Amino acid sequence: MRALRFILSSILLIAVAVVTVYGCGVAWQSLIVSLGGADRSNDRQPTEAVALSSLPQYTQKVAGKAWFRRYFARMVFDDGNGAGSYTGILTRWDKQRVRIDILNSGGPGMHRYVVMLVRRLNRMQQAVTFVVVDGRAEVTIEYLSHDAYRRTIGDDNTVGNCATRFYQGPPGLISAVIKVDAGVEATSVDRKATIVHELTHALGFSGHFRKRSDQRRSVLYYASTLTNWSQADAAAIRIMYSSSMRNGMNVHGVDRALRRFAAGRR
Ligand SMILES: [Zn+2]
Repeated sequence: MRALRFILSSILLIAVAVVTVYGCGVAWQSLIVSLGGADRSNDRQPTEAVALSSLPQYTQKVAGKAWFRRYFARMVFDDGNGAGSYTGILTRWDKQRVRIDILNSGGPGMHRYVVMLVRRLNRMQQAVTFVVVDGRAEVTIEYLSHDAYRRTIGDDNTVGNCATRFYQGPPGLISAVIKVDAGVEATSVDRKATIVHELTHALGFSGHFRKRSDQRRSVLYYASTLTNWSQADAAAIRIMYSSSMRNGMNVHGVDRALRRFAAGRR
């Protein structure tokens, strides 16, 4: 009995030790600067928007390109120590079903928007089925007033945040908590841009693009205003949830895995 208790408490200790929490926000100051305070609808669509019918061929083609390997690494690895840093390890969902609960209303059209994103996610990749549920879920989305957001997240000039809990290795991600500053993000189109950015973090992508030229290339531009994934984002999601990638890989392991994927060796 004592041995059993020891084993159980050891397992618990290991579990606690490997779980980490981080947050990734969309910066609001730069967002206002980039839009000049106005909503230019051009800035809402990626240069090459996701096209699901051609995604498998596109993914196979770009996986072998050097630019895409850099793009993928930039999406996967944390850039918290600067634009050239690739810290952390690959972390993704190993579960077959990941539930998303929208805790409160984000305003007109927002529920439908999340359902649409989830439908797209399920067509981009086949490893995980994402479902929107009402109740117990691995991923939650909550819209907060400006004061409540500041109290929860702190004064870090963000309008959205995704805090994840994960193991550094299988089973990877175990929960993601998305919060949106609905006070600053007053319009539904602003909230959509924040949701697709934070939801992409919730898939295990921890990095950001910081060059202005990447503004319309990826929803993970640090001050993104895009409301749709780019075809390259979708290819990254497809590869992330392919059998080539594994929880716990570092930046070199990911690069090797991408080359194997491109060569058709899974
Ligand atoms: Zn972010």
